[in-house]
Amino acid sequence: MMQQYDEARQACGDALLLFRMGDFYELFHDDAVQAAELLGLAVTSREKGENPIPMAGFPHHQLDTYLARLIAQGRRVAVCEQVEEASQAKGLVRREVTRVVSPGTVTDDALLDPLTPNYLLAVVPAPVAAEADEEDVGLAWADLSTGRFMAATVSRIQLMDQVTRIGPAECLLADDQTELAKELSPLAMVTLRPDWSFALDNGEATLSRQFGTRGLEGFGFGENDRSAIRAAGAILHYLEETQQTSLTHFQSLVPFRQADTLDIDEATWRSLEITRTMRDGSRDGSLLAIMDQTVSAMGSRLLADWLAHPLTAHAEIVERHDALDELIAETARRDRLQEQLRGVYDLERLLARVATHRASPRDIAHIGRTLGCLPEVIAQLENPVSALLAQVVEQMDLCPELQAEIAAALVDDCPLHTRDGGIIRPGYSEQLDQLQQLAAGGKQWIASYQADQQEQTGIANLKVGFNKVFGYYLEVTNLHKDKVPENFIRKQTLKNAERYITPELKEYEEKVLEADGNARSLEYQLFVELRDKVHAVARRLQQTAYQLATLDVLAGLASLACQRGYCRPSMSEQAELDIRGGRHPVLDVMEPEGTFVPNDTQVSPDNKMLLLITGPNMAGKSTYIRQVALITMMAQVGSFVPAESATIGIADRIFARVGASDELSRGQSTFMVEMTETARILNTATSQSLIILDEIGRGTSTYDGVSLAWAIVEHIHHQIGCRTLFATHYHELTDLEATLAMVKNLNVAVKEWDDNVAFLHKIVDGSADKSYGIHVARLAGIPRQVNERAREILRRLESDHRESVVGDIPLPTRVAGSEMQLSLFEQADHPLLQEIRETDLENLTPLEVLQLVHKWQERLMANP
Ligand code: ADP
Repeated sequence: MMQQYDEARQACGDALLLFRMGDFYELFHDDAVQAAELLGLAVTSREKGENPIPMAGFPHHQLDTYLARLIAQGRRVAVCEQVEEASQAKGLVRREVTRVVSPGTVTDDALLDPLTPNYLLAVVPAPVAAEADEEDVGLAWADLSTGRFMAATVSRIQLMDQVTRIGPAECLLADDQTELAKELSPLAMVTLRPDWSFALDNGEATLSRQFGTRGLEGFGFGENDRSAIRAAGAILHYLEETQQTSLTHFQSLVPFRQADTLDIDEATWRSLEITRTMRDGSRDGSLLAIMDQTVSAMGSRLLADWLAHPLTAHAEIVERHDALDELIAETARRDRLQEQLRGVYDLERLLARVATHRASPRDIAHIGRTLGCLPEVIAQLENPVSALLAQVVEQMDLCPELQAEIAAALVDDCPLHTRDGGIIRPGYSEQLDQLQQLAAGGKQWIASYQADQQEQTGIANLKVGFNKVFGYYLEVTNLHKDKVPENFIRKQTLKNAERYITPELKEYEEKVLEADGNARSLEYQLFVELRDKVHAVARRLQQTAYQLATLDVLAGLASLACQRGYCRPSMSEQAELDIRGGRHPVLDVMEPEGTFVPNDTQVSPDNKMLLLITGPNMAGKSTYIRQVALITMMAQVGSFVPAESATIGIADRIFARVGASDELSRGQSTFMVEMTETARILNTATSQSLIILDEIGRGTSTYDGVSLAWAIVEHIHHQIGCRTLFATHYHELTDLEATLAMVKNLNVAVKEWDDNVAFLHKIVDGSADKSYGIHVARLAGIPRQVNERAREILRRLESDHRESVVGDIPLPTRVAGSEMQLSLFEQADHPLLQEIRETDLENLTPLEVLQLVHKWQERLMANP
């Protein structure tokens, strides 16, 4: 057996091998030691003595739980099963590795998050062409649990953005891609594969075979997509190798076109907290969590997909808005629709299990029940007006024949496994009913045989029993042993009883067991036939699943819009924004009802494009600029928006850059990160983009910071000319309004009385005149003495404050002209200063200088 183990072990590379032995899965050698640590199992040893083999294991029925834990810890696991019945094996039971499970290849419900797609991604850098100035990368990503399969060619610098949006569970790379592996490993488990599995001709052949097509042109891939095709080929190859089952639910490879979607880079994605919060990385508190009012897992996953890829085509966006309008208009109908959708099971994932031959009887029953809900779903959508709803209705295939068949075939409370039978409903198959009657009849005969024998022998407690070794037997307690008739054949002696058989009993036993066995196999066969029938229409069902998900997303967005009082945005091709009474979609929900202060935003190419928002910390600057980005994005996703009215110019890209201090532990110099990201914005934004910048330049000295921020605003103004919201606490920047035509100053209203302040969160015209940092510090509990001293210093600084203009070019004067730090000394005119001026350094020894400095220091300490 250990030889069998070693062979399996060799075949499964770096995976942990779970080796089935009877009722247990066992791990040996180093696997055992690792698993013990990962799973908290006890290590024992096999073959005690000189060379004990470490061993750890768990009961077979706990496989799902342990698999889930290993996968969650980023491990790959090979499962080696006994592939024949122990009773039928001649010698050692045959065992085979039946599947290798890794984070990107799970299909079991227990291992999957219903709300998140589970993507396996492959990345292939394109060969660098001599004339190209940008490197390209081919990408393909597939969800084994749903059959979704996409490919794209993106530029190298956009790779990480796209990967972040896909959010893969596992990433395949050729084994020589060590650099990429390093870059990708923080995002997903990286699996290195042999170089040849990424070969183009292999890929084309594998994909054509999979889809039954002659080439891939039909899917819309061209000359430039070679690397993407290679990536897709590598994915299929990997799945075939690890799953060893059919993959027919992958019906096509969908080209992903970046130009059709709003571009959101990785930093923006993170800082806008679209799917996860920055603080703890949880889904709660993200935009997705707020927007998700879907009632099915399929809908939830599709919404996440819509958010990852907002649209840029006017017509497509408006199509979604039209559908929402229609669903919003009729609340009762929408409620009924959602009620029906609640009964829908995860058809996509069920179909994936049908395709991979892993569907249980219960899975098929759930498909049947889902189909059963459809007529009522459709009934809520009579005569749809909007094109999108009409399309949903048209493309939803009810498959009534299949639904009827499943309903007729399967019992109501269908079991999870086929092994114990009890799957098929009586009346579905005459042959099965007969076999079951025969078996039942036999059992009845045996029951009456017991009564007969009791009477004939006069042994009242004689009983018929059954075990696997002897089959049916008659059991007589020792007390009545002497009454046993001659025709009883003794089979087994127990402590208090004897067991016998008789020829008649054996004759019926054979009938019963045969009928039972036949019934079981017929039942299994009927189930497989039914599963194949589902498989045969899988394509139609996949289509239906997609339409159900679309409907769920639309109904969810409509509910959200009603609940939160959203408005339908009017979409425009101009680079403009006119938002009245806009709210931050997440804070709007999180803050106590009615306390969020709405704000307006107006930008347009004919007027002001660059808004500079100044104001104290905690006043609401970041909230304001983020809300503008989020509203724009929501509109392009197809949702209504949290505002009284909104005109949204469709953006090609949204950039959000938040200050260094808001970035938590990313392991790089935060200022460097900030500048790298800002560089990208300045290099790639277009006049159709939307930029929000929060506290740029904070990670360096004040002079550096103001100068950088200043130059950045100028660059955006002169070179890019796109919609920009810039929040800053550098008041110096507000001078820019005077010289840059498209710049407008805004600030956050503050109410001041006595020595108190309150932030009103209201955005108003003009620049802030104070920063209130000291007030905020007091609110935060900075000791009173420190606060008072700070006020004193502030007063001095302010009294020294002068403005200057050098020629025509305005400079951040308050800093450049005033030489702040020195002025503090001058004004104070500390007695020490005079002494320092008068010291004759030429005539002092180094030691004397040291003593002098020491003296000064002591005086300073005593009297600052
Ligand atoms: P800043 O960027 O100016 O430092 P934030 O935008 O982070 O300030 O806002 C600080 C806090 O103020 C937020 O966490 C929120 O609780 C509150 N806040 C901001 N804007 C609003 C608003 N419009 N209405 C109500 N509360 C707000």
